[in-house]
Amino acid sequence: MDDKLLVLIINDMVIFPNNEVRIEYDNIYDKQMIDIVNKIGDSLMLIVNPIEEKAVNVTSFPKYGVLGRLKLKMNVPNGKTRLVIEGIDRVELYDFTEEGNYFKANYKPVDIIENDDIQTYFNIILKTLDNYIGKVPYMGNAIMSQVDNVDTLSDLCDLIVSYLPINYEEKKKYITTIDPIERAKYLVVDMNRDLKYVELEQQIEAEVEKELNETQKEYFLREKIKLMQKELGEGNTKDSDVERITKKLNKLKCNNKVKEKIERELERYNSLNSNSPELGMIREYLEWMINLPWNKFTKDNDNLNRVKDILDSSHYALEEVKDRILEYLAVKQNTNNLRSPILCLVGPPGVGKTSLAISIAKSLGRKTAKISVGGINDEAEIVGHRRTYIGSSPGRIIQGIRKAGTTNPVFIIDEIDKMTKDIKGDPASALLEVLDPEQNNKFSDHYIEEEFDLSKVMFIATANYVEQIPYELRDRLEIINISSYTEYEKLDIAKNHLIPKELEEHGLTSLQVQMEDEAILTIIRNYTKEAGVRELERTIATLFRKIVKNILLTTDVSFYDIDNKMIEELLGKKKYLYLENYGKDEIGVVNGMAYTIFGGDILPIEATLFKGKGDLVLTGSLGEVMQESCHIALNYIKSNMDKYKIKNEVFENNDIHIHVPEGAVNKDGPSAGVTVTTTLISLFTKKKVPKTIAMTGEITLRGRVLGIGGLKEKVIGAHRAGIKTVFIPKENEKDLDEIPKEVKKDINFITVNNYNDIFKVIFQGGNK
Ligand code: ADP
Repeated sequence: MDDKLLVLIINDMVIFPNNEVRIEYDNIYDKQMIDIVNKIGDSLMLIVNPIEEKAVNVTSFPKYGVLGRLKLKMNVPNGKTRLVIEGIDRVELYDFTEEGNYFKANYKPVDIIENDDIQTYFNIILKTLDNYIGKVPYMGNAIMSQVDNVDTLSDLCDLIVSYLPINYEEKKKYITTIDPIERAKYLVVDMNRDLKYVELEQQIEAEVEKELNETQKEYFLREKIKLMQKELGEGNTKDSDVERITKKLNKLKCNNKVKEKIERELERYNSLNSNSPELGMIREYLEWMINLPWNKFTKDNDNLNRVKDILDSSHYALEEVKDRILEYLAVKQNTNNLRSPILCLVGPPGVGKTSLAISIAKSLGRKTAKISVGGINDEAEIVGHRRTYIGSSPGRIIQGIRKAGTTNPVFIIDEIDKMTKDIKGDPASALLEVLDPEQNNKFSDHYIEEEFDLSKVMFIATANYVEQIPYELRDRLEIINISSYTEYEKLDIAKNHLIPKELEEHGLTSLQVQMEDEAILTIIRNYTKEAGVRELERTIATLFRKIVKNILLTTDVSFYDIDNKMIEELLGKKKYLYLENYGKDEIGVVNGMAYTIFGGDILPIEATLFKGKGDLVLTGSLGEVMQESCHIALNYIKSNMDKYKIKNEVFENNDIHIHVPEGAVNKDGPSAGVTVTTTLISLFTKKKVPKTIAMTGEITLRGRVLGIGGLKEKVIGAHRAGIKTVFIPKENEKDLDEIPKEVKKDINFITVNNYNDIFKVIFQGGNK
């Protein structure tokens, strides 16, 4: 049997024993490479650095090489293949043979001659290293921590030389020199030589520093700037600036007015003394003017099917937005000058608003610009500062346009609902000018001063809450709501979009990792709590990161079929537990329903009684409206005591405390009215309300139940929490149409007009 090993020829790096190296495909002779990687099962190999790079044949190999192991082969996104190779030991090679495209050889261990000097050299090396690390900043301390784990001189030399900045040819001799003392001597010389360079450099810098007085220093700095500019290809004089700008101006497709303005400024620039402080300001202005995409368009992709394909392949569902884009294109093909729509995608975080906008740009073949207006309170952020203002610059719109580089990009304005208004002005009204199709072909930025045509821009704004978008803006926008995803929608998104995307980003393939649906659902249910899929995406990325690490550490497993068990092993304990963890039904605890930034959720309300004088205590950061709801609920019950068989003494001799858990989170709105009422009746009558019931609705003093908002989100959240019966106001019956089928089939909806309807079902019949 042939027990020779394959020879891996490397021509530009050295792999030392106990050293792990990543190599990308190109570093090795390709044909060798392919053979080696195909032999992944038999991962031992002999790593050899030929004596001379050219004309590799059986006689060109040195006597010594390194026994190594292929630890991992991975396809990386740039199309190359990455290998992780570990050096094991220095070995003697003999009996090379050429077999087809590759070489093989025999090997045996080398004898390291021990002698008394070894310890002395060990100490010398440590001392030299200590000195070296102190002076050579790029050596870092990483090496120090590894030195502690080394106990032979041979290993110590291998470790240090693998970090040393010496060239490949020099490094090779460290492999072929067997005697560690010889290697230690080389090492001392090489380290000291590098040290000398560094010291010399530092010395020169110190001397230059000393000799330069202030004016010289300035001169020196100026020269340095010139040098840098030259390096950047920016020329180094005013003249070359003028020349460059003039050249660019000739090619600019701007109108005459803008052209004249640039020429005027250029003349001024040219006439100024080169020490004038204005020079920099004018140059900055000119740079803006000649770099703005005046009349520079991309052509829209008019192939509707292709646009549709791109949108469908990047995003699941979201039909309304996709349709709107297709309609726009369809109409545009029939007319000549169609205004772009101004869309506003509204929905909770992570439902794909921004990424869809980016895909829209991609599908149309347009460039993208993206700004966020969240938190801005100054209109100059939108329309720029006047040039008289020190440090002035254009506003974010013009900045976005310049970055996009065309006059018709898709311009994403994030967080349009999060602007604030104060004495510095109202950014919303500035944005109005930007978005108003009647005016925006003549948009005027305070810094640029000349009009810029924004009418071809397709604006897409995003927001979390439609109510918080300034009213005047809302009027201009075409609002498209994107709501929370159900578990099954998330499952689809994960399978078709997120998992393939993350696999690729981690250099994995579906041949290495598969995820079972149950496992994905467990992540969705127990490791994320959100309306969108951002946390889900992040969690999948975490999972894959751990898998890549495992593949690297343990070469024996090359395929992962991820099931529920593995999820817990890799991601740790479940983060969110729903009804399964809420325990038994209790008196005085009833599930309400809330619509939060995480989408919908259940909101248990609890109440308790203790001896007192009839006071009502409310806790849990309740807003004013919610506090009023509690008072209304209590008074409604008081006025219907007889009907609900509650004794007056309950109110007279006790204080009542209502609490809504997660006390630090602010809660408000009238929709908890029916829940508070039910909680109190449960408390007063000592009857439990099943945990599988949830309800929402405003209550009036007469017991009427009024409609509420966000039903779809609330019901999706309740479904996620395992709720089986939901009471909703009659007024909201129409909203049931919007609720996804897979949610609707699991829930029994009871519509009510009056609180009595709830009372009857819960306390008098249907349910225990
Ligand atoms: P938002 O702007 O609504 O906060 P993002 O656009 O940042 O959300 O989306 C977060 C992530 O979730 C992105 O990586 C996006 O690709 C992904 N994502 C969200 N919705 C979908 C969907 N319907 N289909 C595919 N991926 C989605």
